[in-house]
Parts: sequence; C-alpha cells; structure tokens
Amino acid sequence: MSDHNALDQSAEFQRRRAAWSRLALGSGGVFVVGVLFITMLPGVVGWLAHVLIWVGLAGMLTSPLIANYRCPRCDRIPRGEEIVAFDPAVCRHCRARLK
Ligand SMILES: [Zn+2]
Repeated sequence: MSDHNALDQSAEFQRRRAAWSRLALGSGGVFVVGVLFITMLPGVVGWLAHVLIWVGLAGMLTSPLIANYRCPRCDRIPRGEEIVAFDPAVCRHCRARLK
C-alpha cells in the first residue's frame, strides 16, 4: 500500500471519528438533561426525563454504528481492551494507520 493510500485511510478515519464524537457527545448531553430533570424536578416531567435518558443511552451505545466509526481498511470498529477505542493510532485488527 502506498503512502498516499495510507494518508487517505487515516484522513477518512479521522472524519468518521469526528462524526462519532459529535454524536456521542450529543447523546451524552441528552442523557445528562434527562438525569437533571429527574434529580432537580422529580415527578414534574417524569416521562420526558425517562425518554431523554433512554434516548441518550441508546444514542451513546449505537453512535459508533450510526456514525460508521470503523477502520476504513478492514471495516471493523476499533476497540481498546474492552470498549470502543476513542482515538487509536493503529487498528488492532489489521494494523492500519489511523492517525
Ligand atoms: Zn483495520
């Protein structure tokens, strides 16, 4: 593989990573607003708080899939030891350079 392709690959991965972090942060924000509703205004908008919490949680869990946060070479989600790796330098599966 030429250097040019490796550069395209890492640029594409960084673009996907930016999309994923926006989505994950947005979902996290929705989740936090739901938690704040429940703790600060208990019972007032309980159903709305539960909707926000579940939507936020679901958004955070599915954000790597929705944002297509995958290695451009092997099409797998980069992982750390247990969870999704936030900013890996190389793909653990195929060793592609991602930065
Ligand atoms: Zn890979």
